[in-house]
Amino acid sequence: MKQSKLFTKARREAPADEVSKNAQLLIRAGYVHKEMAGVYDFLPLGLKTLNNVIGIIREEMNAIGGEEVLLSSLQDPELWKKTKRWGDEDVDVWFKTKLKNDAELGLGFTHEEPITRLMRDHIASYKDLPRYAYQFQNKFRNETRAKSGIMRSREFIMKDLYSFNRDEAQFKEFYEQAAEAYLRVFTRAGIGGQTYRTFASGGSFSKFSDEFQTVCEAGEDLIYIHEGKKIAINEEVCTDDVLADLGIKKEELRQEKSIEVGNIFPLGTKYSAALGLTFKNADGKDEPVWMGSYGIGPARLMGTIVELLSDERGIVWPASVAPFAVHVVSLGKPGDEVAALADGLYAELSEKGVAVLYDDRDLRPGEKFAESDLLGMPARVVVGKDAVATDTFEVVDRKTGTVEKVARAALVARFS
Ligand code: ATP
Ligand code: MG
Repeated sequence: MKQSKLFTKARREAPADEVSKNAQLLIRAGYVHKEMAGVYDFLPLGLKTLNNVIGIIREEMNAIGGEEVLLSSLQDPELWKKTKRWGDEDVDVWFKTKLKNDAELGLGFTHEEPITRLMRDHIASYKDLPRYAYQFQNKFRNETRAKSGIMRSREFIMKDLYSFNRDEAQFKEFYEQAAEAYLRVFTRAGIGGQTYRTFASGGSFSKFSDEFQTVCEAGEDLIYIHEGKKIAINEEVCTDDVLADLGIKKEELRQEKSIEVGNIFPLGTKYSAALGLTFKNADGKDEPVWMGSYGIGPARLMGTIVELLSDERGIVWPASVAPFAVHVVSLGKPGDEVAALADGLYAELSEKGVAVLYDDRDLRPGEKFAESDLLGMPARVVVGKDAVATDTFEVVDRKTGTVEKVARAALVARFS
């Protein structure tokens, strides 16, 4: 993509009304636009990045047997009354609206209820189990605080997967597979080293749920890490009893601030029993389906990457999520031989399927480099006068700042 064609503009100054680093950088670099507190739009670069994050999650969900669906945001109050989750006193994040005839509707903040109800049409016998359905779907939450940029917004895409199993053993087997898939997602997204499977409060059915918490100063949570076991315990459940249960001593733990990038939840038969999702077992008897739910916020993950990996010059994307693999920066003037060389290199890389952002604009080199650092592609290829003479190019690694001279053929091979 030619930068001269990109409608978004980078800006030097951080927006005055943002306190979070992720929103400041993403807005400055033109990845997102702020509509109002807790409400963000994704612009071309931001959407590409978000879609890359989504792509990683989708691959990992498919690999454990997930089938992708897309449920409506509009929610039927009658359904949610059956699980006692319609009242504002029970759920404090609902956005509610009305039909023309004054009947109430909700904008979904999660989807256990509708997916449980719809599965009644598709699960009848033990032969119909297991089933794993997931979606990337807009959730609406009237969050009280909205100071964490795209990590906590009032409308956001969630990947939510729901598991349907015939018994606890089959459920647990899948639950562990899901936990492993989550760790693979975070590793592929470049934050695996800082992310811990974390004991957290479990709600109605189980003692614990499992959160995936990434150590970060900007986090809103507090966790206690056991480095030896590579696990953590959320402050909310870190009691003497729980530590004794887990065979962990308080002295072995390190306290850190952290971001909840994902959460997996054993649901037992809470929703299936309340909403009548049953199956006939091998003896022909009706039993409620065992369920679990599994959430990740792709934008929260994207914001976490910015919080953790950016530096004083700007964003640093891991190659797996970067909107472009390479940023080709031409130091030529329109019509000169440097510009012609850069045009040719851009065309050749693009032809080979490399995702290239090409800064073809007529701006000062310093300005271009500063913006390239801000935007954060993993590699920058500089096309200057010397490249015309030698057909070798300066390749700058965004993360380490290492500069290499690479001949054209080797450069094309490296990124193809
Ligand atoms: P938190 O405690 O941070 O509010 P939660 O417990 O409400 O999170 P879940 O309901 O488990 O979160 O949602 C699943 C995942 O969706 C979270 O792990 C997180 O990655 C993401 N998520 C939750 N709320 C938001 C939000 N307001 N904006 C962006 N992503 C979110
Ligand atoms: Mg929440």
